[in-house]
Amino acid sequence: MTAPDAFDPRDYQPKPRALEGRVILITGASSGIGRAVALACAAAHANVVLVGRSAKKLDNVHAEISALGAGEASIAQLDLERAVAKDYDQLADALLTRFGRLDGLLHNAAILGTLSTVGDYDVPLFARVMHVNVTAAFALTQVLLPALKQSADARVLFTSSSVGRRGRAYWGAYAVSKFAIEGLSQVLAHELEGTTPISVNTINPGATRTAMRRAAYPSEDLARLATPESITAPYIALLGPVSRGVTGRAFDAQRL
Ligand code: NDP
Repeated sequence: MTAPDAFDPRDYQPKPRALEGRVILITGASSGIGRAVALACAAAHANVVLVGRSAKKLDNVHAEISALGAGEASIAQLDLERAVAKDYDQLADALLTRFGRLDGLLHNAAILGTLSTVGDYDVPLFARVMHVNVTAAFALTQVLLPALKQSADARVLFTSSSVGRRGRAYWGAYAVSKFAIEGLSQVLAHELEGTTPISVNTINPGATRTAMRRAAYPSEDLARLATPESITAPYIALLGPVSRGVTGRAFDAQRL
């Protein structure tokens, strides 16, 4: 087993049934990276809880997972922009009733907002981006902590970005939200370290061929970008048993 300090999820070679018996919840599982990671988790025999705002898109991912004939999927429709306390409570109650615990929580859903100078940034849009990207992740983590504490070896994985580690002009609310996610991950990791078997880390997927990337870089050559399917192995490593004891760290899914 790799020592926690030397752990790099990019070195991980996927193993069959790597997530067997694990219950893993993924936000933004309807498209892009979240969909690809959900399929990879199910292929690794996890029970995957798909969270997203579009029932139709979630149904499609559910059908794709059923066709794999490996792990099972269930759907929890939740619009992170509109959800209120009762919606979060219902999700946590349903999860505990069905599975009795949660072994992995991937915070993947996010919105880009707009690219603009701080001087021109629309403040209500800033608040929306912060709400979906940070406040909703905070609330969901909080409500799911009791289920995570029922696991013998749980993971919380937050999704970051290169602009959440070093600020860059025009990235506005999105960059601020990803810095906040890095902070939330560090605070939670510190709170849980030593007293629970819950590891907490962040992953920066790197430039990946999705709708969000297209919105940020409309004229980019898509063929040069990694596909969501090609970057799933580091996610499996950080959601699975191989990352036991690795906590409070910030990782990249791609070699930059
Ligand atoms: P996409 O825009 O392709 O997917 C985002 C996902 O989040 C979708 O499933 C979307 O649902 C969901 N989502 C958005 N708003 C809400 C909401 N209000 N409630 C519930 N779900 C919502 O983005 P990516 O796949 O590219 O991004 C995934 C993660 O990776 C994000 O955290 C992003 O910041 C990060 N990232 C991506 C990079 C890239 O190059 N692609 C680079 C660095 C970081 P729906 O299907 O309904 O739109």
